[in-house]
Amino acid sequence: MHVSLFAENLYVLDDGKVRQFLIVSDGNAILIDTGFKDSHIYEEVRKITTAPITVLMTHGDGDHAGGLDGFGECYLHEGDWHLVKDNIKKHAMHEGDIFKCGEYCLEVIEIPGHTYGSVAFFDRKKKLMFPGDSVQKTGPIYMFGNHRNLDLYIESQKKLCEYIDKADTILPCHNEYPITPDYIEKNLNDAILLKEGKLKGEKHEFLPCCTYTGEYTKFYY
Ligand SMILES: [Zn+2]
Repeated sequence: MHVSLFAENLYVLDDGKVRQFLIVSDGNAILIDTGFKDSHIYEEVRKITTAPITVLMTHGDGDHAGGLDGFGECYLHEGDWHLVKDNIKKHAMHEGDIFKCGEYCLEVIEIPGHTYGSVAFFDRKKKLMFPGDSVQKTGPIYMFGNHRNLDLYIESQKKLCEYIDKADTILPCHNEYPITPDYIEKNLNDAILLKEGKLKGEKHEFLPCCTYTGEYTKFYY
């Protein structure tokens, strides 16, 4: 696991496949996502802080929820509760909920599509957004399978476009970071082309989907 300080009191934990974000203060800490089981995030986080930790989930996919056992509970939008094991205690999360840690103030934005329970966390003052997997440079953004919905993804990207002027920095969980807020619209435009059947698909080597390559974004669909 590679750990780096991205900004004051904000750490990025990255295993090369997926990343998590840790915000620390004297009184508490917030961890956004928990990565794969084998990256042992609980132990990594405990090397940085001994404060009580609130785990916030961008969504319930396995590469984000794998490390939950160490914590035992999390905040997760109810749309994704079925993706996470029963032994994990889940707290509901809704549009507009606020989570604070030191100077950071994270607001929940519901963005169903990549999964039904996907959310972004947005700090208005710091102009910082954590969009999970829903905004990325290049992708692939996974959009195949029963727990995903391309129409909802398009609607959510339209909703996120309101934040293009309000945000400076986007910290996605996969691929390059940080990225600029214009990727919200770039991902949206490519998703619309995908929906309209204007992108050419190629059968994926081993996943049950095709790879569609847009101008800026790849999708597995
Ligand atoms: Zn995902």
